[in-house]
Amino acid sequence: MNNFGIDVWANNNFIIEDGQIRLNYKCMPSLLQIVEEVRSNDVRGPILLRFPHLIKSQIRTLYSYFDKAIQQNNYQGKFNAVFPLKVNQFPHAVEAVTSQGAQYNYGLEAGSKAELILAMSKTPIGANITVNGFKDKEMITLGFIAAQSGHNITITIEGLGELETIIEVAKECNLKVPNIGIRVRLHSTGSGIWAKSGGMDAKFGLTSTEIIEAITLLREAELLQHLSMIHFHIGSQMSDIAPLKKALREAGNIYAELKKMGATGLDNINIGGGLAVEYNQHAHLNSRNYSIDEFSSSVVFLLGEIMNAKNVSHPNIFTESGRYIVASHAVLITPVLELFTQDYQEKLLNFKAVNPPLIEELVELNKLLNNTNCIEYLHDALDHMESVLTLFDLGYIDLQDRSNAEILVHNIIKRALYLKSANPTNELAKLQVKLQERYLINASIFQSLPDYWGLNQHFPVMPLHHLNSTPLRAASLWDITCDSDGEIGFNPDKPLYLHDVNLDEEEYFLGFFNVGAYQETLGMNHNLFTHPSEYTITIDENSYEIKNAVESKNILDILDSIGYDSKILHAKLKNDLSSSEFISEKEKSDTLAKLELFLQQNGYLRTTN
Ligand SMILES: *Cc1c(COP(=O)(O)O)cnc(C)c1O
Repeated sequence: MNNFGIDVWANNNFIIEDGQIRLNYKCMPSLLQIVEEVRSNDVRGPILLRFPHLIKSQIRTLYSYFDKAIQQNNYQGKFNAVFPLKVNQFPHAVEAVTSQGAQYNYGLEAGSKAELILAMSKTPIGANITVNGFKDKEMITLGFIAAQSGHNITITIEGLGELETIIEVAKECNLKVPNIGIRVRLHSTGSGIWAKSGGMDAKFGLTSTEIIEAITLLREAELLQHLSMIHFHIGSQMSDIAPLKKALREAGNIYAELKKMGATGLDNINIGGGLAVEYNQHAHLNSRNYSIDEFSSSVVFLLGEIMNAKNVSHPNIFTESGRYIVASHAVLITPVLELFTQDYQEKLLNFKAVNPPLIEELVELNKLLNNTNCIEYLHDALDHMESVLTLFDLGYIDLQDRSNAEILVHNIIKRALYLKSANPTNELAKLQVKLQERYLINASIFQSLPDYWGLNQHFPVMPLHHLNSTPLRAASLWDITCDSDGEIGFNPDKPLYLHDVNLDEEEYFLGFFNVGAYQETLGMNHNLFTHPSEYTITIDENSYEIKNAVESKNILDILDSIGYDSKILHAKLKNDLSSSEFISEKEKSDTLAKLELFLQQNGYLRTTN
C-alpha cells in the first residue's frame, strides 16, 4: 500500500485508517465525511477546509521549543511571535490565528497600508504589531495613530528616508510616537527558492553606515529612546540553517554595538520568518536540514553567547513565522471529473469475425502475458503496434482494427508495468511516463496552487479514500482552465500514482495539503475561476462542526468584481431571451428560470461532480 508520504509531510496531523484519511485529533473525522456533508448542501467545485486546531498546534510547538531553549540556556529575554498578514489575510485564517494565539498574546505583522489597517483592527490591545515594507508618510502616520490608540506597535524602517519621515511626523503632531525598528542589511544571504530578502544586494534594510547615521538622526531629534528593535528576515522556506546562524551573529553584534552607542530603549531582536514547511511526499527529497528544536536552540544560544561576550543584557526574541504557522491549517479538496484514457478500457474491444493476423497475435500476447515473459511480450506488442499504424496509414486496415490494437497494447503495457512495478526497468519507467493517466480536477491551479504555477512548488496530494488498495496509475493532474500551464505533470523523480476509478459509478476526491500559506491571496482569477468555497472545521471529542461557510462567488459577482455592472448584464441576458422567437411561452419561462439558476451558481463545473 502506498501511504502518499503521509509520514513525511503530515506531521501526525492526519492518519490513514479504514482506507480513508482522517484528522488525527479528538473524534478523528475523515475528510471524506466532511466533504460529503458540505456537498450535501449542493455545493460543487473545489472546497477549502480550514482546521484552526492545526494553527494552535504550530503556535504551541513554536512557543514550547523557544521556552525550552530559553530555560536551558538561562536566557534572560522573552520570546514573542507575530503573524505576517501577507501569508494569509483571509478573515477566517486571521481569526483562527488571533483566537488560537490569544493565550500567547500573538500579534500581527503588516507590510502595506491595507494590512496595517487590518492589524490595527484585529490585534488585541497589548499584543504586538510590527510594520515592515516600504512606507510613505500616510503609512507612517497610521503607525502614530495606532500607537495613540493604545497599540504596542513597532515601525521598522527600511531606509533613512523613512526615518526622516518618522521624525517629521513626530514634529508635526502630538500623537504618541510608535516604537522604531531598524531592518539591517546583512552581508550573509538566505537559502531556498525564496531567498531574495537577505544579503548585500537585498531589497530591504540599512547598511552599517546608514545605521550609524540613523542613530545620529534619532539622537538629534530626541527620539533615540524609541528605537526598540533590530530586525532581519532572510527569506522564506529556509532549507538550510547555516545562513540563519550567520545572520544571527551579524544582527546580534549590531544590536550589541547599538546598545553600547547609547540606544537604551533597544531590547528586541526580530529574526523575521523563514521557518520551512515539509511539502515533499518522498522521504529522499526533504525540504529542510533542521528541526524546530535545532532552530530555537540555535537562535537562543547564539544570541545569549554574543550578548554575554559583549556584556549586554539579553534581548527579547521576536519571530515573524508565517508559512510555518498556517501552511498546514488548510486543505484543498477537488473532485475528479474525468479520467482521460478510460477510452482504452477492454470492454470497448470490438472484434470482427475475422481479424487481421496482427490483431490475433496481440490477443494472444494479452492472454498469455505473465511475470516471466512480460518484457518479451511487451516488446512484441510495441513492435506490432508500429506495424498496425503503418498498415492503417497505407489503408490496409480500418479504424476498428486500429482501435482494437491500441486497447490491447495499452493493456499489455499496463499489465507489464504492474507486474514489474516493484522493480521497473528503464524502458518501463519511460513507458510509464508516456502512459500516464490524466485526472481532470474541478479546480484551477492558478487560483488554488499559484506557487505550483509560478515556482514549481510541490504540494502533497492524495486521494481521500480507496487507501486500502494500491494505486497503480501514473497520474498527471489537469485543471479546468483553458491553459496548458494548468497541469501538474507526472514526474518520475517524485511520482504520483492514483487509483483506477470508474467515475460513472463513484466519486473520487483528491486532497492537496499544506495550502494554508500564501496560496489564497496569490491565487488569481484566470478564466474567472474564483476562490473555492471555504469552511472552518472545529473538532471535539464527540463530533465536529462545519462553520464560517463562504461559498465560491457566483457568476454575476465574479463579473462585478472585475468592473462590470452585473445588473446591466443580467437585464441584457433576460431581455435577449424574452424577446427571442420560435419557442413557446412556457419553454421561454422555463429557460429563463434555468438561466437565473446558473447565474446564482459559482463558475466551477457541476456535471457528474
Ligand atoms: C514574508 C515575511 C515573513 C514571513 O515569512 P515566512 O517564510 O512565511 O515565515 C516574515 N517577515 C517578513 C519581513 C516578511 O517579509
